[in-house]
Amino acid sequence: MADTFDAAVIGGGPGGYVCAIRCAQLGKKTALVENRELGGTCLNRGCIPTKALLHTAELYDEIKRHGKELGLNGDISLDFGALAERKDRIIEKLRRGIEALVKGRKITLIRETAELTGPKSFRAGTAEYAADNMVIASGSGPAAIPVPGAGRPEVLNSDAVLALKSLPGSAVIIGGGVIGVEFATLFASFGRKVTVIEMLPRILNGMDEDICEAMTRLLKKRGVAVHTGARVLEIAGGGVCSFEEGGVRKEAAGSIVVMAVGRRPLTKNLGLEKTGIALERGFIAVDEGLRTSVNGIYAIGDVTGKVQLAHVASAQGLTAAANIAGKNAKMAYAVIPACVYTNPEIASAGMTEAQVAAAGLPYRKGNFPAAANGRSMIMNCPEGFVKILSHKHTGEILGAHIMAPRATDMIGEIAAAMRSEAVIEELADTIHAHPTVNEMIMEAAHDAEGLCCHKL
Ligand code: NAD
Repeated sequence: MADTFDAAVIGGGPGGYVCAIRCAQLGKKTALVENRELGGTCLNRGCIPTKALLHTAELYDEIKRHGKELGLNGDISLDFGALAERKDRIIEKLRRGIEALVKGRKITLIRETAELTGPKSFRAGTAEYAADNMVIASGSGPAAIPVPGAGRPEVLNSDAVLALKSLPGSAVIIGGGVIGVEFATLFASFGRKVTVIEMLPRILNGMDEDICEAMTRLLKKRGVAVHTGARVLEIAGGGVCSFEEGGVRKEAAGSIVVMAVGRRPLTKNLGLEKTGIALERGFIAVDEGLRTSVNGIYAIGDVTGKVQLAHVASAQGLTAAANIAGKNAKMAYAVIPACVYTNPEIASAGMTEAQVAAAGLPYRKGNFPAAANGRSMIMNCPEGFVKILSHKHTGEILGAHIMAPRATDMIGEIAAAMRSEAVIEELADTIHAHPTVNEMIMEAAHDAEGLCCHKL
């Protein structure tokens, strides 16, 4: 054996590297095995590059639409090359930060592809290692649908879109989930023609219905063609997508076609069969403590198929590390903020109104429009609202759904309130700073009590 570890983490994304750091903090001799860049999909091909591009898109769009009234005269133009370089610099800087953290914690970083060789051993490159505990954090990759033409060069997955060096003239996006809608926002903000083709009756399926409807309306208002209940039939040359909507065959063309139809777990070539680790629908099956079916082997992040979000992967990493250190920690999935970086942003936590109604819970609904919030007006973003659902009798906060500027920052307050079992009255009684977008949370809480001062 080349070396022996208390814990070996396979995969250096936001699940894996956080898990490795926590294992080291808890006194474990730890290895982190990664065959690409540290930071995983989130940092290198996901959250960070997307949001870096979207930040410029938001500025561009605001100045284009409102420059004159903002008192900013003169025309602006996009230098996409400079933007792409900035995005890469941000990634590089954050990556170096993770490398420093890993090194600073005396974690052995093995830059190889790992393969399990048994329940307590793995191979990385040509060397064989022993580990008392192993954590699989191998992540996920973009999925594709097997329609004719899916292999054409103009068909790009999210990895390829984020590596573009120039902005495409137009885009057809297959899939109206989080990735599809964020890319639609990006291209449309830069004035490009965008078509979204979604199989289900609504985009952003799983989000609260009011949010889905409001965002669909807004995208359409900004010129995005949104087709729901639509089935892609084939992709021909020139990015021409044929699809069927309501029994009618239609066509949409784009200089690129973005495939954004979900992500599949990366479980191949990991040697899972050598240990007999059980899978469930292709994902690695885990219990609440992230334990797989094999003693001493844990799995975290997208490969578990629980909730494919970076912050959930990190939380799972901390839970797995605690258990490796002998605790009995469990993941709680009830309060997870979900964010979509549209313009304005979307964020939610807890149950949707449909879920509350289906559960037969008596509830109150508090609503406050962004149009009545001073800060939103200053930010030129009157579209949107805060909606909070609370239990009619106990005041328990059941769910919150926000479409507003900086919604993704606002949702933290709700998540903290729900996690600490605060009731709606406590949100209402909390003095919120003025003028802020967060005031909308307080106003919506007042509205739930029928006592909102800034709404008739
Ligand atoms: P998704 O599951 O959110 O959406 C995929 C969409 O594609 C679904 O609406 C689905 O109905 C649709 N679809 C599937 N097959 C189709 C077909 N043949 N024709 C048309 N539509 C079809 O997946 P995603 O948007 O690819 O994102 C993948 C994961 O990454 C998600 O779990 C998401 O939460 C995560 N992610 C999160 C963020 C964020 O937190 N802001 C951003 C990007 C991605």
